[in-house]
Amino acid sequence: MIRRTSRPEPTRVLELTTSTRRCPGCDGPLWAAYKNRRTVVTLDGVVRLAVQVRRCRDPVCPRSGVALRPEHEGRIALPESEFGLDVIALVGRLRHAEHRSVPEIHAELVRRGVPICVRSVGNLLDRYDELLALSLSDAARLRRVTAAAGQVVLAIDGLQPDVGHEVLWVFRDVLSGEVLLARSLLSSTQDDLAKLIGAVQAALSVPIVGVVSDGQDSIRKAVAKALDGVPHQLCQFHYLREAAKPVYGADRHAKVQLKKKVRGIRPIERKVEGRDDAEARDIRGYCAAVRSALTDDGRPPLEASGLKLVNRLEQVAASLDRVAAKRGSRSS
Ligand SMILES: [Zn+2]
Repeated sequence: MIRRTSRPEPTRVLELTTSTRRCPGCDGPLWAAYKNRRTVVTLDGVVRLAVQVRRCRDPVCPRSGVALRPEHEGRIALPESEFGLDVIALVGRLRHAEHRSVPEIHAELVRRGVPICVRSVGNLLDRYDELLALSLSDAARLRRVTAAAGQVVLAIDGLQPDVGHEVLWVFRDVLSGEVLLARSLLSSTQDDLAKLIGAVQAALSVPIVGVVSDGQDSIRKAVAKALDGVPHQLCQFHYLREAAKPVYGADRHAKVQLKKKVRGIRPIERKVEGRDDAEARDIRGYCAAVRSALTDDGRPPLEASGLKLVNRLEQVAASLDRVAAKRGSRSS
């Protein structure tokens, strides 16, 4: 079938990597195997994911050559899905809790700026229903999902597209990338959550050797209650983002202050308008360099745009100093 609308352009890029660097099969090193790129439509815009996939290279390891994808990827989107899990959670809630029709859900998504067609809304509703239909009593499925690794690293994600509404809880096995259980809960007390985690553990015939989550208070307490002694790691993606917040704020502030000092490019350009001599060309070049430095934003959390601006302006200033020094030596 021909796609009538062009694919939406990504508004940001997310680099994802695995927090696990030791092979779950042999505890040897995991090597970067390849980067998988995919574009996902989320409630926060269209995201380009650069997914670093890792593998064990030990030929005698039971997991030799088995791909391990970043723990955080499954929170953003299910495997193969073009739409984020947050969009699926919202579609499901609008349908089942608010009883809206597919065209109404489509209108709501479009209102929120999500590029989607009516047919895709129907597909997402099917995905939501499939998720919620996953049952822990399907022992054959659980065995199939977990047999290869012989253990489970449990990722717990609570998706709440709108505050005050249901939370879609998704329990994933990081090692296989598959969803074990998904439940929609209106109230999410730690007891409710601990019960769900306990049910997952009871249904598995292999041990849960670790838990990954965003470290929300209720999740932390529920895990401590249901899986006493099992290591619980804060997802490094969230960790980094949270840790970078104060730095990001300070950097933004610094950039605003710095920008105030480099105003007045336009008047300088106007002064040399109509001139085509070497000096005028150089001045225009410097103006363009400053202009592009001002609009060159870094990508948080790893690239601070304020620091980047300082760096670029310092280069422009150093170049101007060199020109001035040369002129000085020529005129003397
Ligand atoms: Zn291995």
